[in-house]
Amino acid sequence: MTATATLTTYKMYIDGQWVDAASSDHFESDDPFRASPWALIPRGTPADVDRAVRAAHKAFACGEWPKLTASRRGALVRRLGDLITEHSQRLAEVEVRDNGKLYAEMSMQTAYMAQWYHYYGGLADKIEGAVLPTDKPDTFNYTRYEPLGVVAAIIPWNSPLLLTTWKLAPALAAGNTVVIKPSEFTSASVLELMKLVEQAGFPPGVVNVVTGFGADVGAPLVEHPLVAKVAFTGSDVTGQRIYEAAARGLKHVTMELGGKSPNIVFDDAEIDNAVKGAISGIFAATGQTCIAGSRLLVQQTIHDQFLDRLVAFAKTAKMGNPMDAGTQIGPVTNKPQFEKILNYIDIAKGEGARAVLGGGRATRPECGSGWFVEPTIFEGVNNQMRIAQEEVFGPVLSVIPFKDEEEAIAIGNDVVYGLAAGVWTQNMRRALTMAEKLQAGTVWINTYRAVSYLSPFGGYKRSGIGRESGQEMIKEYLQVKSVWISTATTVPNPFIQR
Ligand code: ADP
Repeated sequence: MTATATLTTYKMYIDGQWVDAASSDHFESDDPFRASPWALIPRGTPADVDRAVRAAHKAFACGEWPKLTASRRGALVRRLGDLITEHSQRLAEVEVRDNGKLYAEMSMQTAYMAQWYHYYGGLADKIEGAVLPTDKPDTFNYTRYEPLGVVAAIIPWNSPLLLTTWKLAPALAAGNTVVIKPSEFTSASVLELMKLVEQAGFPPGVVNVVTGFGADVGAPLVEHPLVAKVAFTGSDVTGQRIYEAAARGLKHVTMELGGKSPNIVFDDAEIDNAVKGAISGIFAATGQTCIAGSRLLVQQTIHDQFLDRLVAFAKTAKMGNPMDAGTQIGPVTNKPQFEKILNYIDIAKGEGARAVLGGGRATRPECGSGWFVEPTIFEGVNNQMRIAQEEVFGPVLSVIPFKDEEEAIAIGNDVVYGLAAGVWTQNMRRALTMAEKLQAGTVWINTYRAVSYLSPFGGYKRSGIGRESGQEMIKEYLQVKSVWISTATTVPNPFIQR
């Protein structure tokens, strides 16, 4: 039995109010380091979704928000960025508690997150239409970029605040209103962020959060007729379902989905850097990132030597309390995911892959009762195995040898995904060729996991539709209108198109 009284109880944020779910029900959110509940989250219902979407629609159509100049709107978004900077430690602490991410990474990430609000806030009054040349006499034609309306932002559990930010900052800067549905596993940090939204002074209804499960909240949100766009990050299976539902309503979408990214090491690479690159690709964030470099492709000529050095380095990784500064690998965020990873380890063993490191639950004393998986490295993997094709979303690396560039490209691209790829080489021609040939939305040369508010991020193939971040991407939250004005003194023949 859980001592409910000791749990932190959250409320949802709808129309500028802190509210319980219409049902008054809650569900528990777990602390993955302790494998026990720490918070109670309102269990949203379709009625709550309807209320939030109507509030967002009203805030979009009338009241203060649509009347704000673009400069004022941008200033509000930047103010939210300032508040995030001010409260970044608090946000990081909640994220670590709820999600198990390392405080060492989160304290930097929450502070860095402010950049998206500053960048897109700055862009709000630089959204410019154009006066177009016209081929028709006595006409004047110009374009306006206008917001879409209510944006539904559906967020996964692996990086709740950052992935909310990637949607919220451009959506608001463009003048939309937003209903956020966080993952049922990690709702707390997004609700904490709403305290800052409130403090920044956004009018009621401009930003709303409805917490709950996919079927009760996510699906009705996507289907709501007043939602104009769905911005989703999550698995490709759920993404497909959401895309189908959004298609029924002819809604705009951006989708950032799964990955099975190749991290490719050539024999001319700086080996120490490549070892670190392989580690950061798969063990950072406990492998729970869509960009995980979960397939390590190593050129045959250095395969054994590289693997020895990789295993030696990975063995030194410290596991334990994600709040401790020295911890390098934290717990898995939730129990179903923990079980899923262990199941994939069994599948890999069954397929004939050999675990040269790890290969099961971590029972080190510093891991306590938390959901920890030993950093695991499989050799003897071929690219057709399930462990090489399916997204594990955990600290499990498949090492696959290759002969030459051509084979590296063929193996690298031989998955349904195309989110990211890493290449380790000192040869410039090779680096440029690989960057061109790899089917991925991001290619990193001699680095891994670099992302920025300045650079577009998204997927090829089943890894997604559309992009997030970068200047162009604000257009994902805008629609263009063409305005024609006649300067003719008479209306020409009305039966013939002008
Ligand atoms: P995960 O984040 O666990 O990989 P999902 O991709 O299934 O898994 O979930 C991402 C987000 O999508 C979560 O917030 C989840 O609640 C939500 N979700 C799940 N199913 C649906 C659905 N049918 N419609 C809308 N949202 C959904």
